[in-house]
Amino acid sequence: MAYDYDLISIGSGSAGRRVAVALKRAGWKTAIVEKDVEGHFGGTCICSGCIPTKALVEKSLKTDNFEEIVAHKNQIVDRIRRGTLRHVEQRVEADIISGFASFIDDHTIVVEGKQYTAEIIVIATGSRTFVPPIKGLWDCNYMTSKEFLELETVPKRLLIIGGGRIGLEFGALYNRLGSKVHIFEGLAHILPGEDEEMADSIQEFLEKEGICFHMGEFVSEVIEEEADSGSIFSVIMDKGKSGAIHNGDALLVATGRIPNTEKLNLENTSVTLDRAAVKVNSYMQSSAPNIFAIGDVIGDPMFTNWASYQSGILLKNLKASKSDSTNWEELKMPNVPRICFIEPELGSTGMTEKEARDRYGDEVVTYKFYNKWLGKSMIVDDWDGYFKGIGRKGSNEILGAALWGKRAGSLVQMLVFAMDNGLGWKELADGVYGHPVLVEGVYSLASNMKGLTGSG
Ligand SMILES: Cc1cc2nc3c(=O)[nH]c(=O)nc-3n(C[C@H](O)[C@H](O)[C@H](O)COP(=O)(O)OP(=O)(O)OC[C@H]3O[C@@H](n4cnc5c(N)ncnc54)[C@H](O)[C@@H]3O)c2cc1C
Repeated sequence: MAYDYDLISIGSGSAGRRVAVALKRAGWKTAIVEKDVEGHFGGTCICSGCIPTKALVEKSLKTDNFEEIVAHKNQIVDRIRRGTLRHVEQRVEADIISGFASFIDDHTIVVEGKQYTAEIIVIATGSRTFVPPIKGLWDCNYMTSKEFLELETVPKRLLIIGGGRIGLEFGALYNRLGSKVHIFEGLAHILPGEDEEMADSIQEFLEKEGICFHMGEFVSEVIEEEADSGSIFSVIMDKGKSGAIHNGDALLVATGRIPNTEKLNLENTSVTLDRAAVKVNSYMQSSAPNIFAIGDVIGDPMFTNWASYQSGILLKNLKASKSDSTNWEELKMPNVPRICFIEPELGSTGMTEKEARDRYGDEVVTYKFYNKWLGKSMIVDDWDGYFKGIGRKGSNEILGAALWGKRAGSLVQMLVFAMDNGLGWKELADGVYGHPVLVEGVYSLASNMKGLTGSG
């Protein structure tokens, strides 16, 4: 059967765009469907995620003029979004289909009333904020990260539900900009999935900076009232616990993300879901053999780097064969760096101490190297954080690391590289490092871990 396209990617983000672009360059006829070409080409990372949030954080370290900070963010987002669109349209010449796609059958989608067929379809529709069913929340004018990025003034009192990466990044930023920030987290520790000791240290630091954390109890109700100055939000805590009420002028919901599979009419296909995520095998192939899914839409972890990594494997496989998996590479979880862009940053990879102890018990060895012991950290005024290593007695293997300090999001890549390539504490400790530089913290951590694990 003749199809309109060899491949259609639904979604222009880090996952879908790369596959369609690379295969177009390899001679395939490809198209990218994006529901919001003008406002969101390039996806969440460029338009409403990584880039704008980090642009705000960086600029806020240099000025407290909010207008300037927002202008900086807009300029960067605009530049990258336009550049990406121009690149795909004019240099790659992949077709861009504007509008919301949904399925008619395994090979056919419809966008704005027009049908398109493709031999292969890639679902790369990303994710959106999960808004929990808290009484009153759905009916009020809460914001998610997307709307929050459009704020033009700094709220006096900011309430944030969720103490994960996104909640903390916005909380730390707006605290620095002068908001009185309250963060509500139902679990016992912020940054779920991160090393608990490290998470507690970061919480303590942010508390000293002025953020109020409300931990270990869930928000049970939200009320919005109109006042002369605008809306006032009241967050009511679990009545079985404190039952406390906290008021604010803005409410940010940062309670995790959910894959975008709604309204795709997947019931018209053989694709199956695992809760909201598209269910895929290790080749990122859905239950319909010609439909693949990559990026946030297949579930956690939801990072740009992970979405791009998946797209790299998928396009390599498809280049090898459109349907025969004999020579396809399976997607295996590499060591993904996890970064939280508070200031100073947290960059971590591998296991947390708890995960390591659950697996290896008393064999586990940890060490903390404090930034205040390092000359370069003192020079750049980085006094608070530490680098934590997690290893095992008698083994050179890096089980995990959590680095909290200036530029730690970049420094953690040293550990990721070592782990990916079978190198351990010894190899990291035996190198010659520049001086004075922040990465010497990695050297000091590795040297101590080498001694403690006995891997030298
Ligand atoms: C506030 C925030 C900060 C973040 N910061 C970081 C960070 O610092 N580092 C990091 O690695 N990750 C970060 N992330 C996560 C990262 O943005 C995502 O993991 C990544 O963008 C996922 O890429 P994707 O291609 O799967 O989806 P997306 O980039 O979301 O792309 C999906 C695209 O599909 C479009 N679309 C959806 N449905 C349809 C449809 N039916 N028809 C047509 N088009 C459709 C959407 O408009 C969107 O443009 C952040 C996320 C947020 C929200």
